[in-house]
Amino acid sequence: MAYKTVNPYTNEVVKEYPETTEAELSSAIDTSYKLFKQFKKQPISERSKILHAVAANIRKHSDELAKAATVDMGKLLRESKGEVELCAIIADWFADHSEELLKPDKIDTIATGEAEVQKHATGVIMMVEPWNFPYYQIMRVFAPNFMVGNTMILKHASNTPTSAQMFADVVEEAGAPKGSLTNLFLSYDQVTEAVSDPRIQGVALTGSERGGRSVAEAAGKNLKKNTMELGGMDAFIVLGDANIDDVNNVAWRARLYNAGQVCTSSKRFIVMDNLYDEFVEKLKENFAAVKPGDPMDDDTTLAPMNSEKAKNKLQDQVDRAVAAGATVEYDNEPIDLPGQFFKPTILTNITKDNPAYSEEMFGPVAHVYKVHSEEEAIELANDSMFGLGGIVFGGDTEHAAEVASQVETGMVFVNNFMVSLPEIPFGGVKNSGYGREMSHIGQMAFVNEQLIVKA
Ligand code: NAP
Repeated sequence: MAYKTVNPYTNEVVKEYPETTEAELSSAIDTSYKLFKQFKKQPISERSKILHAVAANIRKHSDELAKAATVDMGKLLRESKGEVELCAIIADWFADHSEELLKPDKIDTIATGEAEVQKHATGVIMMVEPWNFPYYQIMRVFAPNFMVGNTMILKHASNTPTSAQMFADVVEEAGAPKGSLTNLFLSYDQVTEAVSDPRIQGVALTGSERGGRSVAEAAGKNLKKNTMELGGMDAFIVLGDANIDDVNNVAWRARLYNAGQVCTSSKRFIVMDNLYDEFVEKLKENFAAVKPGDPMDDDTTLAPMNSEKAKNKLQDQVDRAVAAGATVEYDNEPIDLPGQFFKPTILTNITKDNPAYSEEMFGPVAHVYKVHSEEEAIELANDSMFGLGGIVFGGDTEHAAEVASQVETGMVFVNNFMVSLPEIPFGGVKNSGYGREMSHIGQMAFVNEQLIVKA
């Protein structure tokens, strides 16, 4: 496995990284484990100061970090900047709230004595993270676990090694002790080997169903607690009384943000028949208005995809969808630029036997379905092996929220764009994985909730 930065806008190989050796892996786990033991004796307030310093250092290096992410995986520079700032917000939030969140819970019990549940660290956590938000994905695990007192080994995606290393360096430069977060360039076998190490007590993976199954298998075999944040086929349901201007304003961004490479991108638009034609026309207009170009330029609105492999895979998925009867409602033409651009595409007439009905398309391709009742909309939304997020638009927010709660996913936003913030949990059900990251719920993922009963 080659860890290298290949700029998806210029196709230039920018930098290659050597794989971590066995000795380096073993020594990194050792350093992290020793630090975890030290953290157990340290007041949480000390880590809170360090995490605030990490947030400040991220802001100090914002420009360099943002540019590195854009070179690594192609996203628009302003989106990279937004991601970097979100990381600082997450760090500050966990630094501010963890002492309260990790206080023991007192329990009223008929047992003699006083019972409480204390919240302790468990050990070293193995993190496996994807390239699509190269910093945010790390921070989602790092900030809450650092406050708990867990230490972390990171295996990041092989196409975003520069971002991964810069993030780890910025954390260490801010004063986090060596071993708090160690970025390594590991092979899949080394990940499996690390998961079997007794000093590693948790595994957090964000990525595809395929990667998740493989790492979860290793975790299960070794009885290691794990969280899986996997793919999605999120529905964007437009109810018959929805404000169509609000819908149109959000829909195209919900599909094209990050060049469509977001687990919670709206991938299936399910629209009531009375609004369908207008919706499709406006989506076409909005897709046609994007400007592909250099992701470093402020006036570019469509970034390249992260790699040639990803672009080719998406094209193959669209070709197979069309061969199985889907209609190309808009585009699917090449973009005449050297980078890995994929022109926003709209597919309709996707029948249940079409591969597009069930395959996640991780790029700027929207599937649009016409429905004739709310029941049909909900049934279609739930007819997926995935269950990550979703959006419901309706004129009556309370009613739209009732529809939202019938959607079988981990998160649904009503009349709004989906966002991720430190105080709200993130995660899915079904093949989108299990467990949550962020918020008070996510912070408990790798906590030993230890019962102490005092006579
Ligand atoms: P991927 O292939 O599963 O890669 C994700 C990470 O897992 C990378 O670091 C990858 O390493 C590693 N990996 C994959 N197979 C592995 C194995 N057998 N052993 C050890 N490590 C392994 O995912 P992707 O296709 O690049 O990312 C896009 C997917 O992630 C989409 O399905 C998207 O929906 C999902 N995603 C989910 C969330 C969420 O929060 N639910 C967020 C973002 C993305 P290499 O790069 O070296 O292969």
